[in-house]
Amino acid sequence: MATKEPTPMMVQYHQIKDQYPDAFVFYRMGDFYELFEDDAIKGAKILELTLTARNKNSAEPIPMAGIPHHAVSAYIDILVDAGYKVAIVEQMEDPATAKGMVKRDVVQLITPGTKLSSKNGDGKDNNFLAAVVATGSRLGDADQAAFALAYIDLSTGELKATELMDESAVLDELGALEVKEVVLAKEGDFSTPALAAAIGEKGLVVSYQGPVQPSATITYLTKDLKKPAKQTVTGLLLQYLFDTQKRSLDHIMPVQTYERQAYLVFNQVTRVNLDLVENARTKQKAGSLFALLDQTKTAMGGRLLKQWLIKPLKDLQKIQARQEAVAAFKDDFFTRGTVQDQLKYVYDLERLAAKAALGTINARDLVQLKRSLQAVPDMQAALQAEHVNPILQAAGAEIDPLFDLASLIEQAIVPEPPISVRDGDLIQPGYDDLVDSYNQALADNQDWLAAYQKQEQEATGISTLKVKYNKNFGYFIEVTKVNLDKLEEGRYHRKQTLTNAERFTTPELKEHEDLIFAAQTKRFDREYDLFLAIRARVKEEISRLQTLAQKVARLDVLAALADVAENRHFTKPEFKTDGDRALTIKQGRHPVIESLLGPGEYVANDVFFDEKTKIQLVTGPNMAGKSTYMRQVALIVVLAQMGSFVPADEATLPIFDQIFTRIGANDDLVNGRSTFMVEMAEANSALQGATSQSLILFDELGRGTATYDGMALAQAIIEYLDQNLHATTIFATHYHELTALAASHPAIQNVHVGAQLTDDGALHFLHQVQPGAADRSYGIQVAALAGLPKSLLTNAEAILRALETQGVGQVEGVEETVVKRSSAAVKDTVSPAMRNASTEATPIGDSLAQDIPLFEIASAQELPAAEMELINPADQKALDELDRVNLNQLTPLAALNLIAKLQEMRQEND
Ligand code: ADP
Repeated sequence: MATKEPTPMMVQYHQIKDQYPDAFVFYRMGDFYELFEDDAIKGAKILELTLTARNKNSAEPIPMAGIPHHAVSAYIDILVDAGYKVAIVEQMEDPATAKGMVKRDVVQLITPGTKLSSKNGDGKDNNFLAAVVATGSRLGDADQAAFALAYIDLSTGELKATELMDESAVLDELGALEVKEVVLAKEGDFSTPALAAAIGEKGLVVSYQGPVQPSATITYLTKDLKKPAKQTVTGLLLQYLFDTQKRSLDHIMPVQTYERQAYLVFNQVTRVNLDLVENARTKQKAGSLFALLDQTKTAMGGRLLKQWLIKPLKDLQKIQARQEAVAAFKDDFFTRGTVQDQLKYVYDLERLAAKAALGTINARDLVQLKRSLQAVPDMQAALQAEHVNPILQAAGAEIDPLFDLASLIEQAIVPEPPISVRDGDLIQPGYDDLVDSYNQALADNQDWLAAYQKQEQEATGISTLKVKYNKNFGYFIEVTKVNLDKLEEGRYHRKQTLTNAERFTTPELKEHEDLIFAAQTKRFDREYDLFLAIRARVKEEISRLQTLAQKVARLDVLAALADVAENRHFTKPEFKTDGDRALTIKQGRHPVIESLLGPGEYVANDVFFDEKTKIQLVTGPNMAGKSTYMRQVALIVVLAQMGSFVPADEATLPIFDQIFTRIGANDDLVNGRSTFMVEMAEANSALQGATSQSLILFDELGRGTATYDGMALAQAIIEYLDQNLHATTIFATHYHELTALAASHPAIQNVHVGAQLTDDGALHFLHQVQPGAADRSYGIQVAALAGLPKSLLTNAEAILRALETQGVGQVEGVEETVVKRSSAAVKDTVSPAMRNASTEATPIGDSLAQDIPLFEIASAQELPAAEMELINPADQKALDELDRVNLNQLTPLAALNLIAKLQEMRQEND
């Protein structure tokens, strides 16, 4: 069958769809948005729509799915949240008067990075859209940054730009900002294909933008930029917005530049590991540091707090300015309370300003704006009261409460307007003579209607006769069926017959109906015009509104931090300015764990690094609190540098430039990396990136591989840190052998988290960090707490005793071995396989190998044939079993079980 010519409508559809191949095209037809073809098939599935077809009976029906226009925003949200783009196609002319095909065009492209509505109801999340370009560094200048990045929150108008040295810095920055969509240059020198792939792998939406058209807006917004790369990237970002939004974006603020290095830098892994903005395990805000700190009352405050948290400062003066303001609020409960009470009435000023610019603000939004503005004077008065700290007085003095705008809205808009701005009832009586006159006309007519009803009741003798109104029929007289015979013939004209009543009209009624409708239409139009004028006034004040929003947000955050400081007994940290890197925390706490444990349960700990100490080795049983102790240090550093008080009785800190962490057993199976590989990659990022000003937390480094590999690597890493980096490092480990390093390395200090064995052999955790190394690991006791079978535990104890008598685990003895034995001395006693397995430069591996028969057996497959014959069959079975083990997947518990099994195998032979 010959393919039918497409209809003109489908031709138009394809013209549009071809321009937006990566978006769902929502094609407006009357009261519906229609999806066609593949969009319809895919969209029907995702949105649970009914899939129908256009030209159902033809040979080639076109798949189609419809969305009612009034519900469209919910469907758009679903698609955009799932990472898709939606192109909204509207009818550009009235179908009733259009000649031929109704003109249609894309009026907006909605994408994950340009979506304005917030999924999370409290509005405390920014939605950042970023753009990245390659800079000229590829052309030769090695010192130059490789990338420039700009980002914007379209819903607030905040625009920033920076330069970044390498790909990992770009990815970290995108992660920190929780960017969902990245704009890249379509082609040319600025395009970044390798980065595009890396961004795509992270699951972010990548959008390509063609050439930037020079415009006065772009010139104005980028006027403060000096570096061409930043200009290029900001231009690219703005052009993308102009092309996709196709409307006025007057709320975008001139771009601000920033240096990533001006802040305390940490990568995404660290942000996750420390549960800074969400709990790493649950992915929820609850259980994060942000949740604990978030006592903000406004959406702007919430967003600013999060920005402070992900970008703590390095500049001492700026930190202290925040600290002083927090202190002032903390010490003045009354002022803080008054300010916070008023903040509760402040809506999202930034987003209201943006809505005004985008033309989407309605009368209800204006009322919210008015309420927000009306809360400001009381706040300001409280801050400026006589007794108040001058820092807060100054903050109050610089607020502009926009009285003019507040009083305009107060006078013009009714307190509870409808959502629609075209159907009247928006404007306050007394604001406009014309509206008042129409209202008067309407009221007069209502009076006339009441009088007319009364008159007709009396004239007809039908007391139930009513003058009524409905939308379809306008005004009419209604007489019930039983009373119809009382009605004199020809008095009224019949309009409509119902089961129980007849509806009539009269020339007089019609005349008044016309008057009412005319007055009403005029009133609606006049009210709408007035509304537009007020909206235009608000738009003129956008930058004042944005300034106010920023000041209010800052006060909100400072008051919130003061709240937390008071309620959680935080103190103001001191900073060292004399250049040495000593650190003292007295009675420090992990604030989130403390809050979860309940009052009095948390054991506070001191942390002390003197001038020469750089590395602290923390030993102690599993579950003792090593990890908590080291995280607590990082959280205190983050809090201190963001300007907050800290959970400690006293803290004196140096200023850190970066925090690196290697905590927890994360594997990255999606990218095919084992736990151990992830561990090494994270360690590497610290070893490559840290400076003497950095803080490094390594938790259980080296445990994802065989014991000796792991221990050897751990020791080599510690020595590397000691010799090359001099960063402040806390290294928690199970390898007690490593604690001996302190004896020969002055910068290494041992501490341990205490535990006690009760008389009945149960383990009691003290959570108390004490000087010196732990005496043992208590692994079997922890296993007992986990409820492992008794016989297994007894067996494990026997194995442990056996191992200990052979030299392993004897802390004293091994310490000696580690430090003093040279690899040369033991070389001859080690099997060739052993020498392959551990490098000669790692004394631990070599020295222990000679003491532990188990390890030698593990390598037996590589023994010369003559030696192999000495192995009996049962041992061989055990060896084979050992060979099959995948160390990357072996949990401590499974290892224990394995040892028991191996022993059983060998015993079979005895
Ligand atoms: P480790 O790293 O030594 O295995 P963790 O730091 O993970 O141990 O701590 C295990 C649990 O012990 C924590 O989840 C917490 O419940 C508790 N804990 C840790 N430190 C303390 C402390 N200082 N005070 C009270 N409880 C603590």
